[in-house]
Amino acid sequence: MSTPATLRKAWTRKWEKEVADWLNKDKRAPAAPAAQPLPSSKRIVTAQWEKRWHKNKKPGEERGEPAKGQLALHSLLQKAESAVITQMRTRCIGFLQFLRNRRVPSAPAALCRCGGGPENAKHVAIHCALEDERRNLLYAGSHLDYHWLTNTPEGCKKLSKWFIQSGRLGQFSLASQLLYPA
Ligand SMILES: [Zn+2]
Repeated sequence: MSTPATLRKAWTRKWEKEVADWLNKDKRAPAAPAAQPLPSSKRIVTAQWEKRWHKNKKPGEERGEPAKGQLALHSLLQKAESAVITQMRTRCIGFLQFLRNRRVPSAPAALCRCGGGPENAKHVAIHCALEDERRNLLYAGSHLDYHWLTNTPEGCKKLSKWFIQSGRLGQFSLASQLLYPA
């Protein structure tokens, strides 16, 4: 039986492989960059991160098991976009606040570059001044609705693409180039 803990563990181990597999399956994409193994230093950091994750996990940090209906949110998403949404919903998305909490070496501080607060999904999507010019892409009609963005298939599709294109999620930089060529 899947629990949030096992799901999270699986994602921690698999997110790089998931994206790489997805890239390899996409015959339209240039194969060479996707086929290359990740740098070993990155694998080491990932392994350390996973170790810390389990060490630091506190009782009560677990959230309820995802409702079955939430799986429908992924219906409209490509693999990388789906990975972003899963990471967001399990609160394991690679914005600075999370990386800092997990003591990832590349994240010396949790504060967003705008200085307006910790860099997390909601801050970036709704509040960050550095994203003001792109934020119109998240509107549904005349509304900016974070609940809609995170709880509907259409919203998730829009938000995951927008996060990937923000350039803030380093592991998705290659996916961004291939999914959304300029
Ligand atoms: Zn900001």
